[in-house]
Amino acid sequence: MPTAPEPEILAAFEAAKGFMPVREGLALYEAAVGAGRLGLPLLEVGTYCGRSTILLADAARRSGVTAITVDHHRGSEEQQPGWDYHDPSTVDPEVGLMDTLPTFRRTLRKAGLEDHVVAVVGRSPQVAAFWRSPLGFVFVDGGHTDEHAGADYEGWAPHVAEGGLLVIHDVFPEPEDEFTGQAPYRVYLRALDSGAFEEVSATDSLRVLRRTGAGI
Ligand code: SAH
Ligand code: MG
Repeated sequence: MPTAPEPEILAAFEAAKGFMPVREGLALYEAAVGAGRLGLPLLEVGTYCGRSTILLADAARRSGVTAITVDHHRGSEEQQPGWDYHDPSTVDPEVGLMDTLPTFRRTLRKAGLEDHVVAVVGRSPQVAAFWRSPLGFVFVDGGHTDEHAGADYEGWAPHVAEGGLLVIHDVFPEPEDEFTGQAPYRVYLRALDSGAFEEVSATDSLRVLRRTGAGI
């Protein structure tokens, strides 16, 4: 039996604003619960309004570890005004820029999961540059350009402990299926080519890889 979230967690996830479909969310949750058994923190790149963070936070709670979520909260390229994935309610009228941090905090509060999450507000490569702790789980769901997805891989994959999981969202092997580019797919290929990761599962555009070796 796959490990599923309790109904109230699933309901909070489904009600939250964001981009994680339910099927992939369930696969993400199962992976996070499994990785939590290593007793190391779970880290997400790409908080947005906290939709996927709810699942990681609950998985962390179950394992007695902490979920860390990293985002500058100013939105990805395709979420900016005028682009397909823009939500006008995410703009801070005072500064005229996106700010998803307030919605994220409300989402987590309502789900009763604040105590299990540390939110880091900053650019992923800048945070990764001073990161020193091994992680049981890294979920890459940040920017979709080669620059951003590549930097997320380079910055965070080395911190995945042996036996830990690297999970990549928005992997589209067929160019016609992609909606914001194939950079996550290229990151996925890079991880496999490194010899340090093996594939555990694929659910729609979500790929779960396990770290098996040292060299990245
Ligand atoms: N996981 C979310 C969706 C994330 S959307 C969900 O389940 O709904 C991608 C997020 O990545 C955006 O909030 C954007 O601000 C963030 N992001 C993009 N590039 C980033 C970078 N280089 N550093 C930090 N955050 C980044
Ligand atoms: Mg995504």
